[in-house]
Amino acid sequence: MRFHSKLEVDLSVLQENFQLLRSLAPSNETIFMIKANGYGHGLLEMAQYSHFELGVGAFGVASLGEAIKIRTELPSLEADIYVFSDTGLYDAELRRLYLDYNVVPVIGCFEDLKDFLLDKEFSHVPLILKIDTGMNRLGLGTEELEDAAALLKDFGRRSVHHLMTHFSSSFLKSKPGDRTQKQYENFRQAKSLLQSFGIAVEKTSCSNSGAIEQGIGLEESHIRPGLMLYGPGSLGAWKGKNISSLKTRVINSFMIKKGAPVGYGGHVCHKDGLLVYLPLGYGDGFLTYYSKLDINVEGRSARVLGRVNMVLCALLFERDCAEMF
Ligand SMILES: *Cc1c(COP(=O)(O)O)cnc(C)c1O
Repeated sequence: MRFHSKLEVDLSVLQENFQLLRSLAPSNETIFMIKANGYGHGLLEMAQYSHFELGVGAFGVASLGEAIKIRTELPSLEADIYVFSDTGLYDAELRRLYLDYNVVPVIGCFEDLKDFLLDKEFSHVPLILKIDTGMNRLGLGTEELEDAAALLKDFGRRSVHHLMTHFSSSFLKSKPGDRTQKQYENFRQAKSLLQSFGIAVEKTSCSNSGAIEQGIGLEESHIRPGLMLYGPGSLGAWKGKNISSLKTRVINSFMIKKGAPVGYGGHVCHKDGLLVYLPLGYGDGFLTYYSKLDINVEGRSARVLGRVNMVLCALLFERDCAEMF
């Protein structure tokens, strides 16, 4: 644990963001995406607060392990948990865990669908099916839907509980005929195709943050926001605030001359200045590609100098910044 570098999370801002979201999408149900450790803010903290304080009833994670962690650590949380990508349905032991922990996989390819249907113990698990509408990542292709529908009927399933797709480019301002619109059109077609093969579709969702911000996909029963609830918008319309801020402190600082070697590899300092070391490195998520980044610190500009280390990084300030530290 670090004492001097920390991410402070303000849960009251999450509440404000959530209320803002509710006013944007008042009639949609929410699957709150808390994959990847709650977008870095803490998986359990995000699940706990948003379920017990905000009334969120469904969560999306990437892997079964995340889902089991929530179930184990927060046993009184009675929310649906969906595993979106790393499902592992080919493995009988992992399939058993879905049942034991009451977790629902999102079916993202034909093989998953077969594994799901072939396991009789899953016959009462709701079928959540993702459609690939043009992202070419996860989901059944529209050309697979006829076979999928036939397979569903073979196993006595007459409905898909939740049909979904994911937009590749909803962070861009959507215009008629663009990728987002095409994907949405493909989704609507996929839905009617399934219906025409005799499969009912109960719930639907398409919208991630960028789409919600633009009001796209709000005709569906559900929305799946992630990013926007943590603060960042995509297009300037979202008025949410960042729920977290990164705090750190200086552990060493001194004047350095142009041409002096700094740190691993002896990076040559490009000008005179004040060199400042922070206890923050790529091991903390301050990534190596931030090297050379110019950042603003209380109105003064500084550059991330040389290599970002595992637990340290250096910033170069102008010489007259000494009184700041
Ligand atoms: C991550 C994810 C979301 C949320 O996306 P944001 O852009 O963070 O809102 C929604 N749906 C799926 C399938 C995802 O993987």
